[in-house]
Amino acid sequence: MAREDDTAMPGVWAPAMAPAVPRDLCTDCGISRTPEHKRCGQACQFIKPDYAGLEARVHGRARDASRPDEVHFGPFRRMVRASLKVPRENAQWTGITTRIAERLLETQAVDAILTMAPDPADKWRPVPVIVTSVAGLSLCRGMRMGYAPLLALLEPARAKGYKRIAVIGIPCQVHALRKLEADLGFDSITVIGTPCSDNTTTANFHTFLALLADDPATITYLEFRADYHVELRFSDGRVKEIPFLLLPISKLPGDFFPLTCRTCVDYTNSLADITVGYMGGEGEQWLLVRNQRGEELLRLLGDEVRLAGPGSAGKRQGAVKGFIANTARAAGGLPLRGMPNWLRPLVGWLMPRIGPRGLEFARARVEMKAAETILHLRRQHPARMRSMIPAHVWALMQPYGIVPGDGERGAAGHRVDSEVDRPSGRQGS
Ligand SMILES: Cc1cc2nc3c(=O)[nH]c(=O)nc-3n(C[C@H](O)[C@H](O)[C@H](O)COP(=O)(O)OP(=O)(O)OC[C@H]3O[C@@H](n4cnc5c(N)ncnc54)[C@H](O)[C@@H]3O)c2cc1C
Ligand code: SF4
Ligand code: SF4
Repeated sequence: MAREDDTAMPGVWAPAMAPAVPRDLCTDCGISRTPEHKRCGQACQFIKPDYAGLEARVHGRARDASRPDEVHFGPFRRMVRASLKVPRENAQWTGITTRIAERLLETQAVDAILTMAPDPADKWRPVPVIVTSVAGLSLCRGMRMGYAPLLALLEPARAKGYKRIAVIGIPCQVHALRKLEADLGFDSITVIGTPCSDNTTTANFHTFLALLADDPATITYLEFRADYHVELRFSDGRVKEIPFLLLPISKLPGDFFPLTCRTCVDYTNSLADITVGYMGGEGEQWLLVRNQRGEELLRLLGDEVRLAGPGSAGKRQGAVKGFIANTARAAGGLPLRGMPNWLRPLVGWLMPRIGPRGLEFARARVEMKAAETILHLRRQHPARMRSMIPAHVWALMQPYGIVPGDGERGAAGHRVDSEVDRPSGRQGS
């Protein structure tokens, strides 16, 4: 058992963990490292997800196609654009995620927060930590690229006697947590979720950083912004913005993103109490308040937070169709755009001005992920389609002519409310 002083920061504990049991599609959420590692079969997003059932249990109802945007984003009470009036140092955006967690500790609403801190030897590598001090959460701010066994913290937290915990997690971690939560022995588990897409190993991420700058070790921040630019910050204060179209994607290996993240079905973390992202925020943060607990979490921020209604502009269909064609053409690799190099700077300049923005950008990204899920599984793991693809993913792809073929739709892919029947047949691959 690890000691309390495992990290340099008081109130931040990184318990020692058992090795992961090897699994086929796996993001090492931590369940395979627990004594009851066979629970993976029940819990895993990549084996037999149960979004409709879990949404009903966590939020009181499953996503409803008759409510605007729920097929795309999951059940929610309200969506807002948001930013902390005083942005927190080293936060990924303004720090709403960790500030909510701080408020939970300050108000003694929870005993401990389960989240990630940077590895002292590699700031881009996430390390699971149990945090019991407000100051300790400042260490956790910011996004790290990679997988880390967050849920292996559950047992040490329980053994410590923590009864009310909050977890900051990405969607594949939150699915497993929700699936098991009733049997974990806590009085309450609060879930602050972030969206997640295109994660990869920390080692792969370093390869990407090395392509973006001559001095990659000095990169302190990276974000794929909703204005079609990657923002890089450097330790000497420099900021660099690279249009998506000018990223050196063609230099990355085809398997740069593991199949898990190319077939992930829950971009927006639909089982969290509150989702804190940026995709629909037009340069600000984007919150999806999903249930009563989520309302209470937002209320904890009081007047520290500035809120506004979300905007939406542009049309996504052309961009999504182009992405689907490129994904199909890439035959399992990265979807490189079929565009001459001389045109890229011009289109890169135009996209933030005429491309989908705000909620329309978020819808476009969710639809692109849905297309990737179906096309990649069809190519690499067709036998998994029946169990892995939920109904909402099929519903999102129906307007683009991607519908289930024989044997591709199982119990997980049954209808979402109000879905319209269309003739079936295999297209889009
Ligand atoms: C790999 C990845 C991909 C993402 N992709 C998108 C996206 O496409 N669209 C979108 O809207 N948002 C995405 N997010 C979320 C986004 O980066 C911000 O984290 C989020 O908007 C919260 O910002 P903040 O300033 O409130 O966070 P902060 O207050 O800075 O807190 C960030 C929290 O995230 C945790 N965290 C950091 N890295 C990881 C990790 N690898 N695994 C698990 N937890 C981690 C930290 O420990 C911390 O608790 C992604 C996050 C990750 C980790
Ligand atoms: S992601 Fe988690 S639940 Fe799924 S196989 Fe890996 S450890 Fe098990
Ligand atoms: S993209 Fe999906 S599968 Fe990959 S780390 Fe993020 S939530 Fe997990």
